[in-house]
Amino acid sequence: MENKLDGNAAAGTLQAIFPFDMTLAQTTCTGCGTTNVIGATAAYMHGMGTVIRCLSCDNVLIRVAQVRGYYLLDMRGVRVLQIKEG
Ligand SMILES: [Zn+2]
Repeated sequence: MENKLDGNAAAGTLQAIFPFDMTLAQTTCTGCGTTNVIGATAAYMHGMGTVIRCLSCDNVLIRVAQVRGYYLLDMRGVRVLQIKEG
């Protein structure tokens, strides 16, 4: 069972990992090349963690799981991650 939300729903999890607002970071999808801020993607939250998908092609951009005290990030769906300086 999972809930589809917008990417802003992943903010809390991402904030625990990255020292800046990841919802404003731009991702370029490996599947279709679409670039979007993470806040404008689709987030699926469930017991195993968080899955962030491309809104255009449904490709999985980022998976975040918490396992035995570690965050595991699978970012193979992101071609480029753009983070604004400052
Ligand atoms: Zn895509």
